Amino acid sequence: MNTKLLTEKDMDTAAAILRNGGLVGIPTETVYGLGANGLDSGAVGRIFAAKGRPQDNPLILHIPEAAWLERYCRDVPKEAYTLAERFWPGPLTMILHRREIVPDAVTAGLDTVGMRCPAHSLTLEVIRRAGVPVAAPSGNTSGRPSPTCAAHMWEDMAGKIDAILDGGPCGVGVESTIIDLTCSPPRLLRPGGLPLEALQEVLGEVAVDAALLRPLGEGERPKAPGMKYRHYAPKAPVTVVAGPAEAAAQYIAAHLSEKTGVICFAEYAALFSGCTVHVMGASGDLAEQARHVFDALRAFDGTDVSEIYAQCPAETGLGLAVANRLKKAAGFHVVEVGR
Ligand code: AMP
Ligand code: MG
Repeated sequence: MNTKLLTEKDMDTAAAILRNGGLVGIPTETVYGLGANGLDSGAVGRIFAAKGRPQDNPLILHIPEAAWLERYCRDVPKEAYTLAERFWPGPLTMILHRREIVPDAVTAGLDTVGMRCPAHSLTLEVIRRAGVPVAAPSGNTSGRPSPTCAAHMWEDMAGKIDAILDGGPCGVGVESTIIDLTCSPPRLLRPGGLPLEALQEVLGEVAVDAALLRPLGEGERPKAPGMKYRHYAPKAPVTVVAGPAEAAAQYIAAHLSEKTGVICFAEYAALFSGCTVHVMGASGDLAEQARHVFDALRAFDGTDVSEIYAQCPAETGLGLAVANRLKKAAGFHVVEVGR
């Protein structure tokens, strides 16, 4: 298949491809998504084929405004509208009870559906013009780091999908925060671009799914089915070094070999000269770290790096999402230093 690279002037083309059952890479503020008409099971099936995604991992439905929630969800609680008012368009996905109109292919047979309104003007306009909700997971090949620019999506999807709409680099850089509003208290299923603390301000108590914090045991099932898979992984194995930044940097510096790759905070890059180094951002700048964590995880592919050490922020604010992506990329291989 000859994949087209589309830009802002091609929004009608993107909308027509979606309406007609094709696949389009869509820019959002979090990461690029792989979109299809969310009411068309055949089109949604092609997303799974293009990504090599396991069938039991549901997709998120993207809509242009909260007023569309009632079309696809029933018993929508008032908290959903409060959250939408505060945080949509934005990096928040809400799990709600689905209506029958939503195909099983989207929800992997669950009776709930993930709903999001992304903060990207091109994608909002394309969804409006298509006139259908757009089902989309991240636009990477299953298991790889999520794409945060059109070129990354091209690496994974050229030849497999109809088009990629280039909307520039993603401003947030990690996927949406997922909150399940079908249980009490509401449960955080995935930390992401909206900090947990912002949800707690609105919702009060929020439970945190165990799958976020540690590897799952044999036979354990997370509530977000996606959480059980190895994720975001570069080709070389990753070790996350957690703890105070200075101590973590010293630990990594003491373990370097010729083929070590290092993901670090800007202040410590000079310690690793001679190695392949990728800087996430300054140690205090969580927004910058979020924007660059997936670039960093992709940066070593195609080099001769055979092991990767990564510094890791403390798990507050956006740091919870950055640390989660790094730990998942490492298969939860984490060394704790200096505590
Ligand atoms: P991705 O953004 O590529 O990771 O894909 C969507 C994520 O949303 C996956 O981690 C899914 O497991 C999660 N998700 C989608 N729908 C649901 C749902 N109904 N219940 C729980 N998690 C969901
Ligand atoms: Mg994904």
